[in-house]
Amino acid sequence: MLKTLEEKKEREPMPPLKPKPYYRPIGKEMDVFEHAYQNKIPFLLKGPTGTGKSRFIEFMAHKLGKTLITVSCHEETSSTDLIGRYIIKGAETVWLDGPLTIAVKTGAILYLDEIAEARPDIIVAIHSLTDHRRELFIDKLGQTIKAHGDFMLVASFNPGYQRGFKELKPSTRQRFVAVTFNYPKAKAETEILINETEILSADAKKLVNIANKIRNLTELGLAETVSTRLLVDAAKLIRTGLPKRLAVHVAVVEPLTDDEEVINALNDLCDLMI
Ligand code: ADP
Repeated sequence: MLKTLEEKKEREPMPPLKPKPYYRPIGKEMDVFEHAYQNKIPFLLKGPTGTGKSRFIEFMAHKLGKTLITVSCHEETSSTDLIGRYIIKGAETVWLDGPLTIAVKTGAILYLDEIAEARPDIIVAIHSLTDHRRELFIDKLGQTIKAHGDFMLVASFNPGYQRGFKELKPSTRQRFVAVTFNYPKAKAETEILINETEILSADAKKLVNIANKIRNLTELGLAETVSTRLLVDAAKLIRTGLPKRLAVHVAVVEPLTDDEEVINALNDLCDLMI
């Protein structure tokens, strides 16, 4: 038996190893995740867009040597999209497992990005997976599947409730341990920009100063303010030679708002700072 397995290993080419994603830890999130993983407690990443939530989960999956299956949820995402469906193949109707079912069977980490955006029926679908039962009921097949020992559910959520974002019910939230992600402190964010883009340190610092200045302008009433993602984009453009001010206008200011007055004011402010 052992020999056959070893022979098989020799014959099958190994898939290329993915490079380790870069992630700059901000607090105790790595420790918390590792403990949640050991206990297989579902994990919720809370925070505004572009604050490193997806990068963190990619990094942790790689660190733990687990396959990560990501579903970017939107308002049409339904339990069928997660669990699976019958499809017509030639003259036959065949069942196709969805990403949740694949993760449950193979022991992967399933990441539901922006879970609150999805249809409410997905919450029903994951209920029995998020408590002691750890099982998935596939109603279309009339089957209940026990989750593989390594299966873990992770979700992200943007709690911008005061701005009309979708909420997550307390009964759902309380099935997860939760960690908040936010804009990193200046030193960490500068480090991230340099690592991600190889931009000059002086320019990275200026971008971070601009971001923090805009983040403090709460009176502008922006739906979301400057994320690390926007700064990374600006840094990339600068790194490939786009004039700095133009890079900041298009990568930092324009994505934030369509209000011309606010755009002009922010462009003037940025021009003074870079
Ligand atoms: P989210 O999932 O929160 O919307 P992402 O994980 O996609 O955000 O992060 C956006 C970008 O910001 C990443 O591609 C990465 O370049 C950068 N980033 C943000 N935080 C970090 C961090 N702590 N370490 C490394 N990169 C980060």
